[in-house]
Amino acid sequence: YKDVGGLATEVRRVREMVELPLRRPEIFEDLGIDAPRGLLLYGPPGCGKTLIARVIAQQTDAFFISINGPEVIQKHYGESEEVLRKVFETAQQHPTSIIFIDEIDALAPNRETVLGEVEKRVVGQLLALMDGVASRGNLVVMAATNLPNAVDPALRRPGRFDREIGINPPTKAGRLEILRIHTRFMPLAADVDLERIAAVTHGFL
Ligand code: ADP
Repeated sequence: YKDVGGLATEVRRVREMVELPLRRPEIFEDLGIDAPRGLLLYGPPGCGKTLIARVIAQQTDAFFISINGPEVIQKHYGESEEVLRKVFETAQQHPTSIIFIDEIDALAPNRETVLGEVEKRVVGQLLALMDGVASRGNLVVMAATNLPNAVDPALRRPGRFDREIGINPPTKAGRLEILRIHTRFMPLAADVDLERIAAVTHGFL
């Protein structure tokens, strides 16, 4: 987790929701509660949502399969449902896995606002696939969006994306951590002052 800067609280929460069920599914069994099945990360582009998902997958040794919402819809128009089914099938062949859906708002837009039948079918397929996942905690679906309210509300329900975490733009201290991470292996000139850069880059991602 040393590659992620300024998101200690968020990373801790994601670990609790994703790493714990993947590593210790028996805890959830003993307690008789369902492990989280889906986690929605929301926040502006470039704030580290994909980075967090990748790091979690590495740390848990889980099989990681990543798809991009717009790509699936555009490249495989009409075949998107098939692509989704294959992704879930592949993931379930591994003992533990994480499916990451980037820009899920493109793949599962609110069905009340979209006109296309294809989009509606894709949302329906995703709902069915998520409902079909056993709650043993060996598969977690993570998704990212910068438009959480554009995602079909049926997905943001228990047994589907039942947890949500907002990833905020970094604070000054967070920016300093990020700058330190990214300059770790760079020879810096003596007059480069990372603290000053962190102080004057409010709003940067
Ligand atoms: P998002 O998925 O939120 O759009 P990414 O995770 O793809 O953003 O971030 C893009 C790149 O920016 C990452 O690959 C990483 O190099 C850098 N980055 C973003 N957030 C952080 C962070 N908190 N700590 C370190 N690097 C970061």
